[in-house]
Amino acid sequence: MKVDPIKRALELRKTVVKNDKILVVDYSGTLQGKDTSKVIDVMPNINTGEHVFRFKFNVKEADPLARKKYKRDFFDVSEKTDKEIEDFVKKHEFDFPLWYKHTKRFKMKNILDYNPPQIIQVAGCNFHDGNATGGCWYCYVDNKSNDGKPCTGKAYLSIGDYIESAIANRERVKEIYKEQADTDMDIRVLRFSGGEPMIALDYLLELWRKIDKKGLDFVGQLDTNLSTGIVVDKFEKEGIYEKNILEKLSRFEIKVLTALKGCDEQNVQDNVQALTTLEDQEYSLRKILNAGLDIYPQAYNPNPETLKKYLTDMDKKIKNFSLKIHIGPLKAYGPTKQRLTLEAERLGINPDKFIKKTQEKWDSNYKNSCEVINDYLMKACGVGYKETVRPDVELKVIK
Ligand code: SF4
Repeated sequence: MKVDPIKRALELRKTVVKNDKILVVDYSGTLQGKDTSKVIDVMPNINTGEHVFRFKFNVKEADPLARKKYKRDFFDVSEKTDKEIEDFVKKHEFDFPLWYKHTKRFKMKNILDYNPPQIIQVAGCNFHDGNATGGCWYCYVDNKSNDGKPCTGKAYLSIGDYIESAIANRERVKEIYKEQADTDMDIRVLRFSGGEPMIALDYLLELWRKIDKKGLDFVGQLDTNLSTGIVVDKFEKEGIYEKNILEKLSRFEIKVLTALKGCDEQNVQDNVQALTTLEDQEYSLRKILNAGLDIYPQAYNPNPETLKKYLTDMDKKIKNFSLKIHIGPLKAYGPTKQRLTLEAERLGINPDKFIKKTQEKWDSNYKNSCEVINDYLMKACGVGYKETVRPDVELKVIK
């Protein structure tokens, strides 16, 4: 049974936001915490000890500690020119550090400061129905972390604790890099992920107002599954959110990861197990873009058969849209494997075979979709996929 994502978002709001706090994932003991603490361990809310911060190393080859852990060849930015660094990162699986290229303090030589964001995750997703196999099939979040229920494995985080902890964590990371790699690191990015963070934009706005007032030099990333534009409208109408909340957020240096969940109706609903639509996806995307926010569309498991039509249609509506899309490869991490195992057991089939088959399908969709977008871009714009630096691509709503 597919979940109604709007109804679910409204339910989640009741538990996810409590006074001036939000319910976030405490990664201790989670499969996701285990998957993502290989380079730097999860870190606490310094006032409660709950481990609500994790780090993700986007360009592992360029980070002196991550490349060792993941056994990659080292790309030493200190020995490269700005152009070499930019060229290396733009082709990368996650070009996230480059997103900040046009922000005030960014220098290509300091790109590592933008490479591992401090991530908190709103502990509820409106694509998740609260059952053991809910949410997107490929979701990397533990099932329990996404059900919105206040319980062990989740914690309420105030804005004050968030800021104090983020500053303390930055200092701790600095010490680690000094001790272990003789490298100066001043990590900058605060990533507001989920779950679906768009159901707690009031918290995010207050957070950034406080960061700004304190003169802190953080920059932000906001993630969304692009189903909740209508929810933002409703919250603004009802006074839960201030009017024009996204426009207000756009005054801060926040980049938005807009997850494209598919390129045709069936593709979207099959990926997310929710009754969301292409129309909802486009509405949310336009709403964020029209507010003046800089968006980075990441497509997950698009259908290669319908991708070209999708790109053609979207480029007629939003100028340069296809130039700003990246396709995200999918890997079955701990929580993904657990979800697929439960589904295989429900279907009465072998879990290992089911996981293997699913992974093969994701890999083939990824490979074929990269070819489709490359061909499309070569014909439409004369450049190949990932030959453009995304922060240089300006999107313009045409109709
Ligand atoms: S939208 Fe994101 S958090 Fe929600 S179920 Fe899908 S992948 Fe997981």
